[in-house]
Amino acid sequence: MAWVDLNQQQKAIDLLASRGVSLQDIAEVTFLIQKDYFADLTMDFCLHNVQKVLEKTEVQHVVFTGIALDELAEKQMLPQPLQDIVHSDMGLYGVDEILALGIVNIYGSIGLTNFGYVDKAKVGIVGKIDQIGKENDQCMTFTDDIIAAIAAAAASRIAHNNGKRS
Ligand code: MG
Repeated sequence: MAWVDLNQQQKAIDLLASRGVSLQDIAEVTFLIQKDYFADLTMDFCLHNVQKVLEKTEVQHVVFTGIALDELAEKQMLPQPLQDIVHSDMGLYGVDEILALGIVNIYGSIGLTNFGYVDKAKVGIVGKIDQIGKENDQCMTFTDDIIAAIAAAAASRIAHNNGKRS
């Protein structure tokens, strides 16, 4: 197997889908937080930007790392005390947000403020995934921050390109 896998983007997309998150869901969050700034913004354009964000290797690596931790927690396979901390989504545990910053940092300070907003307001799919993590045995501690970060990064990408396709 080659060290660099050209299908990594698709693997990241498949992993997100396995957690119940489609690119359409993420694009919807991007649309909701950008529609007031660009009058002719479309879902299609938001989806394009979400895909561009997922082309980045750094972003794919965050997806692989975060979702692996959530899945290991679901299988009770993390060492203690990390197992309980991650599985219970402990309030003081901020490593999930810190990891997600690896995505938003690529797009500068607009990315950071967008992420803070999506995370706090639990926009769209972010709120749904957060609820799923709280209500059943599934662990979404890292997953919710990752999708918030991808949506925020896509919004920032749109802002940086002033709403133009790139
Ligand atoms: Mg979280």
